[in-house]
Amino acid sequence: MKRSLLILLLLTGFSALSQDKPKLVVGIVVDQMRQEYLYRFEKKFGPGGFKRLTGDGFMLKNAHYNYVPTYTGPGHASVYTGTTPAIHGIIGNDWYDKNAHKFVNCVEDEKQKPVGSEKGNGDVSPWRMISSTVTDELKLATQMRAKVIGLSLKDRGAVLPAGHMADGAYWFDGTTGNFISSTYYKPGLPQWLDKFNALKLADQYLNKEWNTLLPIAQYTESGPDDTAYETIFKGKERPVFPYKLKELRLNSPGFDLLITTPFGSDLLTDAAKAAIEGEELGKDDITDFLTVSYSSPDYVGHSMGANAIELEDTYLRLDKNIEDLLNDLDKKVGAGQYLVFLTADHAVADNAKFMKDNKMPAGIFRQANIEVALNDFLNKNLSGIDSVIEKISNDQVFLNHKAFGTDPKSSSVDMLVATELISQYLMRVEGVADVFTASSLRASNYSDEGLRGKVVRGYNRRRSGDIAFVLEPNWMSWTGVTGTTHGSGYTYDTHVPIVFYGWGIRKGSSTLYHPITDIAPTISTLLKIKFPSGCTGQPVSEGLKD
Ligand code: ZN
Ligand code: ZN
Ligand code: ZN
Repeated sequence: MKRSLLILLLLTGFSALSQDKPKLVVGIVVDQMRQEYLYRFEKKFGPGGFKRLTGDGFMLKNAHYNYVPTYTGPGHASVYTGTTPAIHGIIGNDWYDKNAHKFVNCVEDEKQKPVGSEKGNGDVSPWRMISSTVTDELKLATQMRAKVIGLSLKDRGAVLPAGHMADGAYWFDGTTGNFISSTYYKPGLPQWLDKFNALKLADQYLNKEWNTLLPIAQYTESGPDDTAYETIFKGKERPVFPYKLKELRLNSPGFDLLITTPFGSDLLTDAAKAAIEGEELGKDDITDFLTVSYSSPDYVGHSMGANAIELEDTYLRLDKNIEDLLNDLDKKVGAGQYLVFLTADHAVADNAKFMKDNKMPAGIFRQANIEVALNDFLNKNLSGIDSVIEKISNDQVFLNHKAFGTDPKSSSVDMLVATELISQYLMRVEGVADVFTASSLRASNYSDEGLRGKVVRGYNRRRSGDIAFVLEPNWMSWTGVTGTTHGSGYTYDTHVPIVFYGWGIRKGSSTLYHPITDIAPTISTLLKIKFPSGCTGQPVSEGLKD
């Protein structure tokens, strides 16, 4: 973009580019990655991937999500806005919209249309995220001259990080196997992406066999290959290697099978390299921003659990992807000229049955069962008011406000009684640790400690329900049995890696506590731009060069 200026500077005797700012920021989110994986799999990682980042960069060993619920949409929004759902408004992946009386997805936008696919998941935008991102602030600070590109297999993993003013966000379409976008950005795909899609790489990866990278006997950091805690791929008898994708895809139409294997991360790395090249990221003196969210580790984790060889192998292969990406950045942008951070959008619990089988208190909370039982209980105890509960979503109860009548005085009293009855009922349900009413959350502080503080920071008054409940440790709100999930405010879900690497970053590590909201203001400080509008985090000062 500024080639002419560069040539002019060189001709007039100025040495090289100003070192005032990095040429490119690359934000890497690994969907569902625990901090613990960096330690558990360390001996198996090569020198050029995760270990290059942790060894030459600055690693936070005690970084956490500081709110509930710990899901993908809120996680990505919090990394890039430097604040929590109470302020950025992304309270779940999906939630019950109490004004529209329907479930909505965090990036769904009916005003948009897919770009690059006839009927793909493309009617999306970041409009529900109500504070600015570090990527937005970079656009504002550069009169929109900085390029911002978001990439992920998931739409929300690309759209939320790239912010409201992005040049493009691209994600995987399971129907066509292509990366697609939304009319929110541009009416068509860029040329480099059309060319990339034409390579049909998804199809090539799906003809491969997934075997362990190392001899399987070496995976001593994981459980046995064949356990009752893993999900069996459609078309397989047991959850064991090798996975012959060419055969398995006969049972899975389209390309969605790919994202549940580590080859999904290979494809995303290919796409990231194509974007760096095609968009000429980091080529001029105006800092660009590329966001990359690796989704396959989340899909593999959900189906196999945190203790499976399949999961470990996914991370050993991701290590190679990170190495590949860093080498590509060295080549195209130049070592030392770019800034990377790597984190996760949440971590993950262990499989509940695995925990129980190993003597640990644990359980699965079936929200749908509770909804029926609770409405029954209320119908009996609140005479004259029918269907008191409109919905339970993300461990929050939404009252059916219409059921309480139109008289503001009597309806308020009835609602208080109903709220109290629901709280009492929920506290008797096995697995429930605590219940918080909307009024008690209103009386709490954003900086409160413990579980209450996490609920407060995850609770958006305009969007969240009338009553929020939290489960006991190792209990999960879930519909599954094998594999696992995340969403709680406990450390297994909140403790994630945060590593800064490259331009402006000191070598070292810290065991000080840092909330996830500290990433965005750290990057803002390095880029010398405004903090995101709703930012509640602080720069990680111990990791920065003077
Ligand atoms: Zn996620
Ligand atoms: Zn297995
Ligand atoms: Zn997940």
